[in-house]
Amino acid sequence: MLIVQKYGGTSMGGCERIENVAQRVIQALDHHKCGLVVVVSAMSGQTDTLLEYAHFFSSLPNTREVDMLLSSGERVSSALLAIALESKGIKAISLSGRGAGIITENTHTKARIKYIDTNHIQKLLQEGYVVVVAGFQGISEEGEVTTLGRGGSDLSAVALAGALHADLCEIYTDVDGIYTTDPRIESKAKKIDKISYDEMLELASMGAKVLLNRSVELAKKLKVKLVSRSSFSASEGTLITDEEDIMEKPIVSGVALDKNQARVSIADVLDRPGIAAEIFSTLAEANINVDMIVQTIGRDGKTDIDFTIPQTEVELAKKVLECFKNDVQSIEYDCDIAKVSIVGVGMKSHSGVASIAFKAMAKENINIMMIATSEIKISMIVNIKYAELAVRTLHDVYALDK
Ligand code: ADP
Ligand code: ASP
Ligand code: MG
Repeated sequence: MLIVQKYGGTSMGGCERIENVAQRVIQALDHHKCGLVVVVSAMSGQTDTLLEYAHFFSSLPNTREVDMLLSSGERVSSALLAIALESKGIKAISLSGRGAGIITENTHTKARIKYIDTNHIQKLLQEGYVVVVAGFQGISEEGEVTTLGRGGSDLSAVALAGALHADLCEIYTDVDGIYTTDPRIESKAKKIDKISYDEMLELASMGAKVLLNRSVELAKKLKVKLVSRSSFSASEGTLITDEEDIMEKPIVSGVALDKNQARVSIADVLDRPGIAAEIFSTLAEANINVDMIVQTIGRDGKTDIDFTIPQTEVELAKKVLECFKNDVQSIEYDCDIAKVSIVGVGMKSHSGVASIAFKAMAKENINIMMIATSEIKISMIVNIKYAELAVRTLHDVYALDK
């Protein structure tokens, strides 16, 4: 039997906490008598601190150097956990992304994993080691250190679980599992025992950072048995599983909030075929993720295009969209927005879910600036000052605390 465990930044945030993780690892060894691969994040706040250092020198630092810098955080925490385990008589060894054979594309700051060469890890497991892997990082075939994007250790864990055919992938964090919304925003949020991959994917993509969306997507694809649980309690956590395994399907399962989006408003774009393609290909080439897109009806040969991008990519977007300045009247960037989303597989078969949301928002006088929907999700952009109120209002109107 093989288990992959992942411990996030808060769980690794300091020597006492790393000591606690070491105890958990020993418990798992005693309990399951299994092989164990432990993926770790950098100590909490470390990645942000390193990024701040880089931004002291430049608003757009060289991404290769950013990856060299950020990958150090996970190397520190993985080595410390291996030292902690060894001090307790456990045979443990830490590996960087390169050591773990995590081969990625040769792009920086959000590289995709191409494959994992598991030979080295397999050999170490056979020799009886607990293998501690620095999360969030890999190596390109060109030998460049890469990182997988913020929150990427979740992806490292799922990818390793898939490649090693692990029996279970446990993501340890600072809450007891997946809740109906962020329990830090709504204290009435309830823990969910089981949630489908698709709902979890939407919640994660819409801002519930408890799991990285790409890790959920990969878990579904590779059929990895995924559990989210706390490293600070004995709670059972939440199982992320196939929709068929869930008997009671609520219409709305959860509410997600993303405060890291920015709205880009391009006014008076020449309304001609190909212009949207040009703008969005430019953004795609720069690897900027565009989310909601709204184009107004053209008038006098001109149209307005609004869309959202991650706030962290605003500087880059400004740079690459510069070339359109003569084709449009203005390009504005608004970071004072938030995206609130409701997610639930039950929406597929129930009507009227959206109107309940819109009425509830209106009752609280919250203006909705943009709306986007999918089969199992409704997202709304609101002013950031109403973000938490919007979350609590929606949580309440769908009685998610019941
Ligand atoms: P880690 O450092 O362990 O990776 P993260 O900070 O990335 O942890 O994710 C855990 C946080 O996710 C929680 O502290 C919680 O505030 C937040 N969160 C957002 N939405 C949810 C949700 N629906 N259920 C549980 N936690 C959530
Ligand atoms: N340390 C990285 C981050 O803060 C990766 C992770 O924690 O998953 O984003
Ligand atoms: Mg995380």
